[in-house]
This record gives sequence, C-alpha cells and structure tokens, in this order.
Amino acid sequence: MEARLILGDQLNENHSWFTELDNRVLYVMFEMRQETEYVKHHIQKVVAFFAAMRTFARKLEQDGHQVLYYTIDDPNNCHDLKKNIENVVQLLDASTFAYQLPDEYRLDQQLNEICKNLSIPSKAYDTEHFLTTRTELAEFYKSKKALVMEFFYRYMRKKHQYLMVDGQPEGGSWNYDKFNRNTWKGGRIPPPYTPDATLAKEIYPQVTAAGIETIGTFDDNPFLFAVSRDESLKQLDYFCEHLLQDFGTYQDAMHQDETNLFHARISFSLNVKLIDPAEVIEAAIAAYRKSEGSISLSQIEGFVRQILGWREYIRGLYWKEMPAYKQKNELNNFGKLPHFYWTGNTKMNCLKTSIKNSLDNAYAHHIQRLMITGNFALLLQTHPDEVDDWYLGIYADAVEWVQLPNTRGMSQYADGGILATKPYVSSGSYVNKMSNYCANCSYDKKKRTGDDACPFNSLYWNFLDDKREELRSNNRMGMMYNLLGKINPEELAKIKERAYQIMENPDAF
Ligand code: SF4
Repeated sequence: MEARLILGDQLNENHSWFTELDNRVLYVMFEMRQETEYVKHHIQKVVAFFAAMRTFARKLEQDGHQVLYYTIDDPNNCHDLKKNIENVVQLLDASTFAYQLPDEYRLDQQLNEICKNLSIPSKAYDTEHFLTTRTELAEFYKSKKALVMEFFYRYMRKKHQYLMVDGQPEGGSWNYDKFNRNTWKGGRIPPPYTPDATLAKEIYPQVTAAGIETIGTFDDNPFLFAVSRDESLKQLDYFCEHLLQDFGTYQDAMHQDETNLFHARISFSLNVKLIDPAEVIEAAIAAYRKSEGSISLSQIEGFVRQILGWREYIRGLYWKEMPAYKQKNELNNFGKLPHFYWTGNTKMNCLKTSIKNSLDNAYAHHIQRLMITGNFALLLQTHPDEVDDWYLGIYADAVEWVQLPNTRGMSQYADGGILATKPYVSSGSYVNKMSNYCANCSYDKKKRTGDDACPFNSLYWNFLDDKREELRSNNRMGMMYNLLGKINPEELAKIKERAYQIMENPDAF
C-alpha cells in the first residue's frame, strides 16, 4: 500500500493523483490540534478548513478512492502530523509514503524530518496548483537589483499569454492601476454570494466541544466560505457575472455599510486549492470577452494582476526569502497590538468597522487589511510578530505563504524594502479619501493635536520622525520628510506628545 497525505490546503480535485483509481493507494487526511493551535485562529477559519476537508474526502470516496480521515474528535487521532503518519504507516503496513509539497515552510520542514526517519521510502509531489514553481521567482530576479513586482507580472503575462495581442499587452498598457483607485459614493451593489453553510453549522459545535481556542464569532453572521469545488465555481461565476464590471474601479475603496463592495471573496477557495488560479483568470477573461464592453479592460486587468501577478509573486518571494524573512524587523518595532484588535472596542471608526467586520466574518478585503489595521499597527510601531499572528489567525484565507509577505513585507515594511518600495503608512486624510469612515467618527480627521484629533495624524508624523534613521535613505520618502521638516518644532513636540499618549495606551482611544 502507498499512504498519500493530503493537507487541509491541498484540496485540488484535478491533481494527477486522482486520475486513476488504485486500490493500493490510501489517502489520509487529519484534522489536527497541531494545526488549530500553532496560532489562535478565527472560529470560522477552523470550521471552513474542516468543512472543506470533509467535503473533499467525501468526494474522493464517492469517486471510488480509499480515504482514511481523522476528525477532530476521532480517538485514533494523535493531533500531531508525525505520530499520525507513523501510526498510519504501521496500521497499513505501507510500503511507501507520499505527500504533496506543502506551501508553508513550517510544514515543509516537518515533513522532510518525518520522511528522514520513516522506515519506508517517501515521495514528494507538486501540488499542481500554482502557475509558477517554488523557485521561479528567485530565478527571474537573480540578476536584478530589486524585486519590482511589475516586471514579474509582465513576464507572467507573456509566459501565459493572458490579455496579450501579438506580443503586446491588450489595450497598449500593462497596468491600469491608476483607474483602480476610485472612492465608492453609493449606488447598487449586488448582494454577496452566500454559499451553503449546512456542513459548517454541523461542524461548529464539534469544534467548540473539542475545546479549541478560537477568536471571532460564528453564530450571528452569514458564513462566507465555499467549502466545495462546486460552490467555489458558483461563487466565481457570480463574481464574473455581477461584480467584475466594477471590481477594478473600486478595488481600493472602503465603505461603512458595504463591507464587501465588489470583491470576489474567492481567496479561501483559491488558497485551499478548491479552484486553481488558471481557471479563475480564464473565467474572468471569458466574462470580459463576452461582456461586449460592459466589463472594461481596466476591471479585468486589475483582477488578473492580483491573481497572475501579485499572488504568484508573493508565493515566490516567500520561498526565496524564508526562513530569514519570518525574523525580519528592520524598522525596529517592539510595541504590542492593542487589545481592541480582538474586540473592535475603539472609538476610531475606521478601526472599529474593519476589526468588527474581521471578527464577524473572518474576512476583510485587502485595503482594510493594509490601510486600516496594518497601517495603524505600523504607526503604533508594533512588533511584526504580533501583527503576523493576528493576520494569520483572523482571516480564513490566511496561510503563511500568502500572509507573511503581505503582512511583514507589504504592510509592516519589516523586511526593509524587499517587497515594497516604502512603508504603507498614512494619516487620516487617506482614510477619509478612500472611505466614509471619518464622517461617522468621534475624531476630527483634520486635527493633529487635541483630545479630538484623529490618532492616525499624530502617529503618522511621529512615525516619520521616529524612523528617520531607518528611512532616511529611501528616495520615495523624500517628499514626506520635506513636509515633516516644515512642521515647526513646538508643533512637532505637541504632535509627538499626543502620539506617545496613544502608543502608551491605544485602548483608551
Ligand atoms: Fe479613522 Fe481618524 Fe477617520 Fe476616525 S477620523 S475614521 S480615526 S482616520
């Protein structure tokens, strides 16, 4: 017998493993405490993973494959990958052990170690999910000075011939990002696609009964995650039909009452591999072609850039830079994340809305993650370990390969500029430009000092002042430092005094 391990984020029905039925193969899947406890996850994330895994196992069995599945409450489950594999190998008297290469460094190391000590030979297979290999990005940038994403994106467009005409980008430009930054001023937004939550509701009490410590809530909110391939494809179709036509235009917008705007919310399905990036891109491009102009080029290019460019870039960068990347703290930040990141109890409306949304749904779209919660954490000079743990735990789509570069690199600039050319920090004016949060806030978005001044403002100028040493040589920060230089010393002292009050006790604001 060959025992083949399938991890919780390896639910790729189209993998070549499954093309033939073989009664000498047993697929093994485990719901393990090892995975629920290495960081504290959102309850909906744990439920979504287990529901997707169980649905996948059932589908394999329906197709005629043999599956051994340990649920969280199975008495045979040791909740440890090494022990479970060793036990299964012994139980089956297996002659080989096989696995798909994990996308997380932690599990990759663990499986290497497990296989070294197994008494039988082992084989590793590709997951057959991504459009690049683990090392493709590292090879691409080998002779280049900086890891500028745009170049990799163009390479991917050419390689896969997406939105290309006679070797040139469709429409003449590679990137329509400047059309992707509009504020949403109101109007009709199609209701979000809500997948079937029957299985999730069944699993929820099992997770709570198992005593797994989680964050966030389950009961009061619609469950947003498709846990089968069929549902994931329906969610993708819904996006292409109803939301893609406005996706690009408003991809950086935020709104108090419209948490999802035109976002696809397929990141969970993609990251557990229920659907693959090529089919997502091709479905969206097909919808664009069929739309006869109602979906513009800037909408589809904005979407393709996220999946073909950014997602593959992040994954390649993770493998290029790990394990050192996980230790990086180039801005020397050592603060703690405020308690309100776990409750949403703050008077700052942008943070309250974004955090409550995350606690309620295990989801927030990228600009809430980057420019509200990430921005504030960086302005508070929070240790990146704290920020990583929060992001990895709270979002259902967060798997380390995608979360770590996005958080530590893009959002916290803790890598010193490997990924982003400058820190993504802003004062209240950016939040006000891209959302209606400030209109409903206790604080005054324009003030930098005084009890009712927007905390982002004093923190922003203080951050620039505190980080002169680290950011002095960054050309892209020159304009900001010029503006900082124009603030008179007395005013800057007052700004810093307020910033330090906030940093000492952010939960009071
Ligand atoms: Fe956020 Fe400041 Fe705007 Fe309030 S005023 S919503 S704290 S940016």
